[in-house]
Amino acid sequence: MKKNINTLCVQSGWKPKNGEPRVLPIYQSTTFKYSTSEEMGKLFDLEESGYFYTRLSNPTNDAVASKINDLEGGVGAILTSSGQAANFYSIFNICESGDHFISSNNIYGGTFNLFGVTMKKLGIECTFINPDWSDEEIEAAFRPNTKCFFGETISNPSCEVFDIERFAKMAHKHGVPLIVDNTFATPINCRPIEWGCDIVTHSTTKYMDGHATSVGGAIVDSGKFDWEAHAGKFPGLCTPDTSYHGITYTKTFGNKAYITKILSQLMRDFGSIPSPMNCFLLNLGLETLHLRMPRHCENALKVAEWLEANPKVSWVHYCGLKNDKYHELAQKYLPNGSCGVMAFGVKGDRNDAIKFMDNLEFIAIVTHVADVRTCVLHPASHTHRQLSDEQLKAAGISPDLIRLSVGVENVDDIIADLDQAMKKM
Ligand SMILES: *Cc1c(COP(=O)(O)O)cnc(C)c1O
Repeated sequence: MKKNINTLCVQSGWKPKNGEPRVLPIYQSTTFKYSTSEEMGKLFDLEESGYFYTRLSNPTNDAVASKINDLEGGVGAILTSSGQAANFYSIFNICESGDHFISSNNIYGGTFNLFGVTMKKLGIECTFINPDWSDEEIEAAFRPNTKCFFGETISNPSCEVFDIERFAKMAHKHGVPLIVDNTFATPINCRPIEWGCDIVTHSTTKYMDGHATSVGGAIVDSGKFDWEAHAGKFPGLCTPDTSYHGITYTKTFGNKAYITKILSQLMRDFGSIPSPMNCFLLNLGLETLHLRMPRHCENALKVAEWLEANPKVSWVHYCGLKNDKYHELAQKYLPNGSCGVMAFGVKGDRNDAIKFMDNLEFIAIVTHVADVRTCVLHPASHTHRQLSDEQLKAAGISPDLIRLSVGVENVDDIIADLDQAMKKM
């Protein structure tokens, strides 16, 4: 029976057998017992599937990965210890030293550093493009050694909407997959695979967990990209892996080649697994994701409209607003709402923005977004502090930008708090 996404949030993943716990158990165990050496050997040879070590797989983690896979409509998913690890693996799985990839410049600050600075140290070069450029200008960034294209459905923190279908077509024309970080939209509001995206990543730390309890990430494989058709570009998937019984991922695992390689090679070698306890908490969050997202969006739209009408506010970026630059794209990709996060500027300088935030009462200044509690952050003095003014500009962030993450409190109270802080400015 094909189920609605609301049902998948609640029911997908853990499927107890007779007499097993109704609620997903926390298998807080690093290892699993077998009676004979031969049985264990078969697991290592991939002849039989089963659990043996939690770095590779754990029943709690697997159930939650499987739920996220169902929500995104993929063929397989893996959880990571953070969103950073998810994005790193998603690229490193198909890029090695000497390779190149393309990314939107409108992405999370941590990912911007990872791609521009740290990956470079591994010999992997990233070209940042502005999604507003013409096709011609963007296509000029492709090189023979380009291996993928990356963007965020809704960018953090500037809230710009990524034209998934356009960039999927462009990536495919050049024989590479499109990877989309779907953290802010969540599969409730957008499922990038339906628009041609090949790989979806998440920082589950945000709405999926939703309560700010656990840092985590996820990677979902659509199973749709034809690696063999571009075998020369993807030797890691299409030629034997000497570190893994000499198997060729595409031959042995078919359309699950990409996600299986992440698990059996990257997870094996780098680690970065979430704890079963954190996966349990993530699952609790996922069970109400479909209830929370509409409320986040409803509250955020009211707050954005209030900000837009406020004379102390110089600008508001929220793709739900009718005259927002990205409203049209939002209507296409996010017809039921985008997310609770917006960006705005207050009139005055950097210090006025800081003063406004310090005046807030229950809306807290925290390095977080996308949980049930409304919060604010000033990227120029917090998350993006390490970037120069020029880099800030390149990442689409102005010095007066305040990132506001609207929670699920009563919206009148949220507006009242913003209002009293503005009045004290
Ligand atoms: C927070 C975030 C990340 C990084 O995730 P962590 O879980 O903090 O490691 C990546 N992408 C986006 C869009 C994010 O918002």
